[in-house]
Amino acid sequence: MKKSLFIPGPIDVSEDVLEQMSKPMIGHRSKDASTLQRNISEKLQKLFHTEEQILLSTSSGSGLMEGSIRSCTRKRAAVFSSGAFGDRWYKMAICNSVPVDKFNVEEGEAITGEMVEKVLATGNYDLITITHNETSTGVMNPLEEISEVVKGYPDIVWCLDAVSSMGGTKIEVDKLGIDICITSTQKAMGLPPGLAVASMSEKAVWAAEKVEHRGVYFDLLALYKYIQKKDHQYPSTPGISLMYALDYQLDKILDEGLENRYKRHLDMAQYVQKWAREKFQLFPNEQYLSNTLTAIKNTRNIDVKKLNKELGKRGYVISNGYGELKDRTFRISHMGDYTMKDVQDLIEAINDILKI
Ligand SMILES: *Cc1c(COP(=O)(O)O)cnc(C)c1O
Repeated sequence: MKKSLFIPGPIDVSEDVLEQMSKPMIGHRSKDASTLQRNISEKLQKLFHTEEQILLSTSSGSGLMEGSIRSCTRKRAAVFSSGAFGDRWYKMAICNSVPVDKFNVEEGEAITGEMVEKVLATGNYDLITITHNETSTGVMNPLEEISEVVKGYPDIVWCLDAVSSMGGTKIEVDKLGIDICITSTQKAMGLPPGLAVASMSEKAVWAAEKVEHRGVYFDLLALYKYIQKKDHQYPSTPGISLMYALDYQLDKILDEGLENRYKRHLDMAQYVQKWAREKFQLFPNEQYLSNTLTAIKNTRNIDVKKLNKELGKRGYVISNGYGELKDRTFRISHMGDYTMKDVQDLIEAINDILKI
């Protein structure tokens, strides 16, 4: 039985999008490949609200995260972590011998502009990483106030993990001054896993030029230069089938209208939040609730595994808490192509199973 995935990725992909992946292959050095990848790039610039270069990567989002911290840290990176996905940046730096310090907030809390200011004022850093939507805790970190601070430090390269938010909420990359903004296709963009996307600013390019060892596959500078020189082609063979799906889905996203899409996500989020407040409690600080995913405190001590088993019989799956937060919290995603009706049906099913 097909299950609707209300987990934070991968999520459901429409039939017509899946069909795109059965189209015949083209050579990755052909004009057609350039055209396909150039078109994708232009559409992604609209989604990212950027005029900077778009990089596509046949990997999951983590690949570009690792590539960006490695390619662009000249002196020392500051990783701001609000949970498991923030911690991942730190591990990537350590394992690539990139000098790094990590600054944490408590789970459920957000990274504030004030916190970033304090760290940047030390003058010890030239790159920062922020997780926009911390998928482990359901916190959406406040980009505007962080942007205000980062703008005061012109040498800082700002890397943003927007994996679980891009496509579900507005992120104005150029206006905010984000140098490398990264997402994966399997979350709010509503595509199969296997591709990652980033925008890369000229400042990030300038920084990468000063870094000697940037690796090979995830050398962001090499990707950037190759795309520019070879009309949107890539140094190695990209996932062409996934590109077809991406190109097609981007048309659907732009046809829906970005503002409509953001509004639909916000409406779904507010619906789930209201339900969570009534029946349970929200896990994150109310000031920083995510638009794409809700983390709920398990105040009724329900057996999440058992709930999921019952939901499975009705064609749904939700997500347990992440890592340490397992069973203390559970998570419902509301991103991609889901409608309010889909979310309402899911919540009704949960109410019915739990008799709440
Ligand atoms: C899912 C997720 C990741 C990991 O993305 P992959 O595409 O699986 O590599 C990173 N950060 C956040 C916030 C995520 O939600």
